[in-house]
Amino acid sequence: MVDQQLRRNGITDQRVLDAMSSVPREEFVPAALREYAYVDRALSIEAGQTISQPLVVAAMTQALDLKPSDHALEVGAGSGYQAAVLAQLCRQVVTVEREPALAEHAAATLRRLGYDNVQVVAADGASGYPALAPYPAILVAAAARGVPPALIEQLAEGGRMAIPVEEPAGAENQELRLYRKLRGDTRWEVLFPVRFVPLVTD
Ligand code: SAH
Repeated sequence: MVDQQLRRNGITDQRVLDAMSSVPREEFVPAALREYAYVDRALSIEAGQTISQPLVVAAMTQALDLKPSDHALEVGAGSGYQAAVLAQLCRQVVTVEREPALAEHAAATLRRLGYDNVQVVAADGASGYPALAPYPAILVAAAARGVPPALIEQLAEGGRMAIPVEEPAGAENQELRLYRKLRGDTRWEVLFPVRFVPLVTD
């Protein structure tokens, strides 16, 4: 997966490639789909949700440019796979998931595999997780119609946030944006088109 799919498609950060090599993706995929764990595509998990495609996980992780001393916030734990990849690269990860069954399952998988620097919180991630804010890195794994203001607020000075955003033209079209906060000013650039499940707002 690392050589054929990631390196060849622009993932150049060796730390990210090493993290992707070391996380056993098959452990996060439903048993019936294990043979596809290392195919470069998203797969269905419980509650009508998906585990993201490896290339997208790697590209979003690379865009965050994590330092070992950083702590990161993820919105949309899903299977817990992306959180495990982040946990390889920084000090602490908090991941918020609104489906309680998924949150519980992700927490159990991460615990079983020894990722003791990941905290899974069952809640609405559109409000972020103020207790540990501000975050040098935020990764949103579900597509937002507009960027939740709480997430911009909880981004640290010099921090980065990768978030898929629905384009006004239609929810089918989404762009992955990278936000950066510098001297209190937040700017963003478009990285590439993506397709995520929606960020559900209650
Ligand atoms: N990162 C996951 C894939 C996430 S799929 C992985 O590696 O497997 C998107 C997830 O976002 C789903 O599990 C969905 O339940 C969750 N989600 C959607 N809206 C949310 C919200 N407002 N707050 C928290 N989680 C949300």
